Amino acid sequence: MARLSNLSRSLNGKFAIVTGAASGMGRATAFLLADEGASVVVVDLDQSKVDSVVLEIQSEYGALRAIGFAADVRDTDRLQVIVDQTVATFGGIDIVINNAGISLTSAATSTNDDFLAAWDTTLAINLSAYIHLVRAALPHLKNSSSGRIVNVASTESIVATPTLSAYSASKSGVTGLTRSLAVELGKDGITVNCICPGPVNTGMTDAIPAEMKSKYAQRHVALRRYGEPEEVAHMTVSLCMPAMSFVTGASIVVDGGMTIRHT
Ligand code: NAD
Repeated sequence: MARLSNLSRSLNGKFAIVTGAASGMGRATAFLLADEGASVVVVDLDQSKVDSVVLEIQSEYGALRAIGFAADVRDTDRLQVIVDQTVATFGGIDIVINNAGISLTSAATSTNDDFLAAWDTTLAINLSAYIHLVRAALPHLKNSSSGRIVNVASTESIVATPTLSAYSASKSGVTGLTRSLAVELGKDGITVNCICPGPVNTGMTDAIPAEMKSKYAQRHVALRRYGEPEEVAHMTVSLCMPAMSFVTGASIVVDGGMTIRHT
């Protein structure tokens, strides 16, 4: 009997770049991509943290399955070097995961320069770097039989928190950029989607005391808890599969039901 499905869920032989991959959701995503068969490029700020994730993946899946680069994603020239060296090592790029991000609190009403500094830094890392990496990788994504871009946004692109206007603006920018790129790159067979995680236990939320997290989750999250990085990474990695060929321009909420909860 003919198989009901002809589309592959395997990432065997695919090459993926993941930014912010030394921690939290980026690390979980890099590991899961390797688990599904991809070879992974780990990008993050700190060389020793990058090396430890590379080693983690290599010891599980083999030496050829991960390479790493210390980089600040704001450095456009460095992004180009990473793309070039990825292609020199692996021969191509099929998947780009723009995940590196920061969250700086600063009141829009403050009269000092802190707000403007936070605004510029946040937009540069959370939004501008995303398009710079896509542009550098584009010629190679076009050569892929299933080019995939996944951008990590946030539920802060849907709801809002005081003092997070720069973060919220950057993440709303990511959803807009995602839709725009999806329309522009559709003719090349490249899908572009974004993930909007809700509250997740990562480096970004480490400093929030457990009691506050629990109180927040009981009040606001349908599942009454913070998520774990792997729970978000599974959605990110699913969007990268060749079988996920007709989803593009989507903003997919992974928030334990935070944004839909009324009372
Ligand atoms: P995390 O702090 O654990 O990981 C973020 C990683 O990005 C870190 O390893 C950090 O070093 C790296 N990074 C930051 N600035 C960088 C730069 N300039 N260049 C290179 N790397 C840089 O936090 P996370 O929660 O896993 O964050 C991943 C993404 O998820 C971010 O885009 C964040 O905005 C988003 N997000 C997080 C939550 C949450 O609750 N944790 C919710 C919604 C969205």
